[in-house]
Amino acid sequence: MSRDPVAFLSKEYAQLVQANLDWRIHTLNGPSEPWCHVDGKKVLMFCSNNYLGLSTHPRLRAAAVEAVQRYGAGSGSVRPIAGTMDVHVELEKRLARFKGAEASLVYQTGFAANAGLIPQLAGEGDLIVSDELNHGSIIDGVRLSKADKAVYRHADVDDLERVLNSAEAHTPAYQKILIITDGVFSMDGDVAPLDRIAKVGKDHGAMVYVDDAHGEGVLGEAGRGIVSHFHLSRNVVQVEMGTFSKAFGVVGGHVSGSRDLVNFALNKSRTWLLSGSHPPAVAAACLAAIDVLEQEPEHVRRLWENTRRFKKAMSDAGFNIGKSTTPITPIIVGESAKAKQLSDRLFELQVFALPIVFPMVAKDQARIRTIMNAAMTEDEVGFAIDAFIRAGKDLRIL
Ligand SMILES: *Cc1c(COP(=O)(O)O)cnc(C)c1O
Repeated sequence: MSRDPVAFLSKEYAQLVQANLDWRIHTLNGPSEPWCHVDGKKVLMFCSNNYLGLSTHPRLRAAAVEAVQRYGAGSGSVRPIAGTMDVHVELEKRLARFKGAEASLVYQTGFAANAGLIPQLAGEGDLIVSDELNHGSIIDGVRLSKADKAVYRHADVDDLERVLNSAEAHTPAYQKILIITDGVFSMDGDVAPLDRIAKVGKDHGAMVYVDDAHGEGVLGEAGRGIVSHFHLSRNVVQVEMGTFSKAFGVVGGHVSGSRDLVNFALNKSRTWLLSGSHPPAVAAACLAAIDVLEQEPEHVRRLWENTRRFKKAMSDAGFNIGKSTTPITPIIVGESAKAKQLSDRLFELQVFALPIVFPMVAKDQARIRTIMNAAMTEDEVGFAIDAFIRAGKDLRIL
């Protein structure tokens, strides 16, 4: 029988295009800054995770350039063999100090941290309990584990408790229970009730793992993140995971907690053991980002000033902005087609904000997701507010 073994490639792609579910990739011609050029057009950036504008901060640029001069472009190996340079070690020490943790471990990405560590923390005979809206990299990490899995309703601590209570009746008894939650949920911008989750976890003898990718640089003292925000002890939130790819403005995942956690994680995480380490310029730029967070508090302050102004203006204008309490502000419009039209109209008006539609959110919850930036001036925020209101009126959303 002769059949084309790769016919599915074009067929499945065509199905995605037909269903309007394919990604059309936009290209930045230059740096990620408030005013940037996207596909050749000058627009105000409203969908970057570079919350504090650190990706272009002079101190990060200088640190990266200097590291290239000193160490070269690459590290030469995986971390456990010959790919650990002093700059990687220094970053982990510096991060642990910043987080107020005994130790930290840096992974290539946040995705690699979740995919590498979660399946090691819980396996056969254990249970993982996960928020229904957790990030895809958590979902993949959970899928790689042989543990039993349970999901609780989004940010619903009563439902979490119900799941934990019913787990107590399981035979044979679970050896370990791992609760995992995003810190800030990326589609809605709401903050996990981590204080209450930690309490319930403690009552049930469960380990608590928080993925704070969108909370770092945003929440807590000097942007230390959600554990600092709630003043929680590391005895109740044992694993604090995060990323350098968002507010820190660079790239790289990390976990912080006890020395025992880090020793365990680096010996067990296959993503950490089997994949090349960061170019030294990445580690050096991440070090500079932590210095900037500690020494220049104005960035986090500006982020929140811009956020409060933008949220108030959107809400006063009559947009449905959901229940976000962070610089992620969804503009919820309902139907997918409407969200796409709004995004297109905004682009014409020089604002770049992408639609988030089914299956990323429920069918009637399509939205434009906006992410505020500290580097945006008052005039720029004003420009964006005018554009949103005009586009909302043009499309009869307002
Ligand atoms: C972005 C994100 C990640 C992935 O981080 P990377 O470092 O970009 O791989 C993981 N978890 C959450 C909640 C995220 O938002």
